[in-house]
Amino acid sequence: MNNNNLALKAPLSGPVMPLSRVPDPVFSSGAMGDGIAIDPLNDCLHAPCAGVVMHLARTRHAVTLKADNGAELLLHLGLDTVQLQGEGFEALVREGERVSEGQPLLRFDLDKVARGSRSLITVLIVTNGEGYELRPLTTTSVDVGAPLLQLSRTATAPAANEQHAGGSETRGRVRVALRGGLHARPAALLRKTAQEFSSRAELHVGGRSASIDSLVGVMGLGVAEQDEVEVICRGQDSEAALHALLKTLGTADGEPHPLPTAAIPVSAPRGADEPGVLGGVCAAPGLASGPLVRLGTIQLPQDTGDSRPDEQHRALDQALEHVRDDVRTTLQQAGKQGHADEEAIFSAHLALLEDPGLLDAADLLIDQRISAAHAWSRAVQTQCGILLALGNPLLAERANDLRDLEKRVLRVLLRKEGEQPVPAGSLVAAHEITPSDLGPLVRAGAAGLCMAEGGATSHVAILARAKGLPCVVALGPQLLELEEGRTLVLDADHGRLEYSPSAERIAQVAAQREQREQTRERQRVQAQQPAVTRDGKSIEVGANVANPEEAAEAFVAGADGVGLLRTEFLFLDRQQAPNEQEQQRAYQDVLDAMGERRVIIRTIDVGGDKHLAYLPLPAEENPALGLRGIRLGQALPQLLDQQLRALLQVSPLHRCRVLLPMVSEVEELIAIRQRLDQLAQELGIEQRPELGVMIEVPSAALLADQLAEHADFLSIGTNDLSQYTLAMDRCHAGLAARIDALHPALLRLIAQTCAGAARHGRWVGVCGALASEVLATPVLIGLGVQELSVSPGLVGEIKARVRELDAEDCRQRSQELLALGSARAVREACTRLWPQP
Ligand code: PEP
Ligand code: MG
Repeated sequence: MNNNNLALKAPLSGPVMPLSRVPDPVFSSGAMGDGIAIDPLNDCLHAPCAGVVMHLARTRHAVTLKADNGAELLLHLGLDTVQLQGEGFEALVREGERVSEGQPLLRFDLDKVARGSRSLITVLIVTNGEGYELRPLTTTSVDVGAPLLQLSRTATAPAANEQHAGGSETRGRVRVALRGGLHARPAALLRKTAQEFSSRAELHVGGRSASIDSLVGVMGLGVAEQDEVEVICRGQDSEAALHALLKTLGTADGEPHPLPTAAIPVSAPRGADEPGVLGGVCAAPGLASGPLVRLGTIQLPQDTGDSRPDEQHRALDQALEHVRDDVRTTLQQAGKQGHADEEAIFSAHLALLEDPGLLDAADLLIDQRISAAHAWSRAVQTQCGILLALGNPLLAERANDLRDLEKRVLRVLLRKEGEQPVPAGSLVAAHEITPSDLGPLVRAGAAGLCMAEGGATSHVAILARAKGLPCVVALGPQLLELEEGRTLVLDADHGRLEYSPSAERIAQVAAQREQREQTRERQRVQAQQPAVTRDGKSIEVGANVANPEEAAEAFVAGADGVGLLRTEFLFLDRQQAPNEQEQQRAYQDVLDAMGERRVIIRTIDVGGDKHLAYLPLPAEENPALGLRGIRLGQALPQLLDQQLRALLQVSPLHRCRVLLPMVSEVEELIAIRQRLDQLAQELGIEQRPELGVMIEVPSAALLADQLAEHADFLSIGTNDLSQYTLAMDRCHAGLAARIDALHPALLRLIAQTCAGAARHGRWVGVCGALASEVLATPVLIGLGVQELSVSPGLVGEIKARVRELDAEDCRQRSQELLALGSARAVREACTRLWPQP
């Protein structure tokens, strides 16, 4: 039978309308596919053709049929009818059942559905429309069974059981273990996995499908944790791709479950009895008071509808690339500072900015002479509509990320990039605040955030918690009616915004904040003094810096020295390699910024996750295990020689210590020491800088004894040491919550490093992110670490913590941590053994 051409029959009786007139952007934009709509006058939906029921919505308001020519037909009864939760609908067929043309599929209570939803307008959409042509057979009114649409299969459409050309097709099913289902970050993780293969991959669930390339497409499937999905891969490496994707989908990631209620205190329900208070949900704890400032929104100029598509395509491409560049910079900074949450969020943003579903939708609109700004805005709004309609709160919150990208691209397109001035100390209110708003607000010194909408698991909430900025979401539309300039109290711990606080209350909040500020100020002042434990052990607290400016900040913050200068970050924005003089000047500037204090300068550590524009490296199968750190110096000896010469010429040389990254055996250290000697002789320099090695691969920790014989000091890089000990990629968003340097295996390696160094009278420091964790300070001191190199902003706090501890007590108690079985157990024990005041 030739099924290539099919006349679809009317599933309902009533007036017919084109999809573009349906008052719901999800359908009218064509984002879900091409089709037609009917405003029904009868109460039963019939099959427009013979086929198989692929999917029946749990809420029975929609059904998808697979026609015999492979077309997938979605019949969606009414608008927003998902909210009825099945009330008023009766399914007359089951999933998997074969139906004949005209067979009744769903019966519905016309009156009930009409009253409980926005509209009865029903759409018929071909959801796998690529390769099918649709031609309406009527445009007025139809009766059930009358010809409605001509559906023709073109050459490119896949037949129902067709194999994809150019490689094999492989398919498999899995239950989704990714926490919270396929929302933005897990969907980005899946896309990243798929990109490692040449095969094309699709995700199928409940009769709907999406390319794994498209984040919005995948999110639009509304897959929840524990849903079963099918993955289909087509191409040369389809088996390997399928295997990797099923593994990713079936592995629980590090995505936190929505915060436990203890961590997010929720206020009494909105509208409840407390006068003068708006109730919402705590997204980031804290207490603040200040004048209310409302954040403005972007107004789109009117669209004239006669834009030139070529110009608008160009403008949108440029704006998108501009925003992608900004996001990449944020990602790089987050990586440098070890902010894993931020990295995961902005990686997902980058993927959304490259999303074919989103870009194609915008391009299509531009082709219809719509301006780039309107096209982008409409494409984003359509996707937001799809996410919001899924009824999954976690996915609905991802609409916030999409709107953030909408705003960012619009700001570039409309040249409105300047930051809105927000006075320091104010409480910022908005319908919704998005991740990219946050940086400018933190810089301006905002005291707290209040949102009419939003959720506690949104990305902006995660970032606000990371920045310590109190934030309450879901305060309701009343928030936007509050008078600007009025002083309010934001009690985020209890999800409350007090909009008419008494003078005493304001004074009380101010006093509490003042107290916290005083503690911080005291720590800042005392940071200029050495950090000595209660029993008299001195711990040097230095700072990790990336350039002379940060070194100056560290000096003011009281750092005892620079514990790590990452030289690879000094010339990040350069297209050409810096010469010897430029390098010497940069190192000298860092030394000069630190007064009389010492500076540890690490030789260049590129490769792995760090890249330099001026030093392109060949692609490697497994870069984290490839040519990086000191291995690169061996492969490119001129590069290392140039850097060592620059280092030898700083003054005074006794204040400069040289540190070698990624050392894994003693010969590497001995060879560099000899080379340093040779170069110093050639330059006529008598003095030698101290030479240390990073302990950041397990072999170095295990050989600490032998390394310490030839090194002047050892510095533990817990970031890489965690990666290589736990076999978890430090850039892997899905493992971010599990790659924890307080794992007992790492503690054992740190203990072994300290013991090895002590045998030769050498000192050990920690310059990885663990040194900046107050919880870890007693353990590190207990295991024998003598120097901590931390983020400049934390010098005062870490020094204050050192002064509260007794080193001998830390030594004794930390031994018991080595016998524990997980990082979580270590964290719990630390909290119990060394409670923080
Ligand atoms: C480390 O690995 O802990 C470290 C300090 O080095 P980086 O983060 O630069 O790799
Ligand atoms: Mg490292």
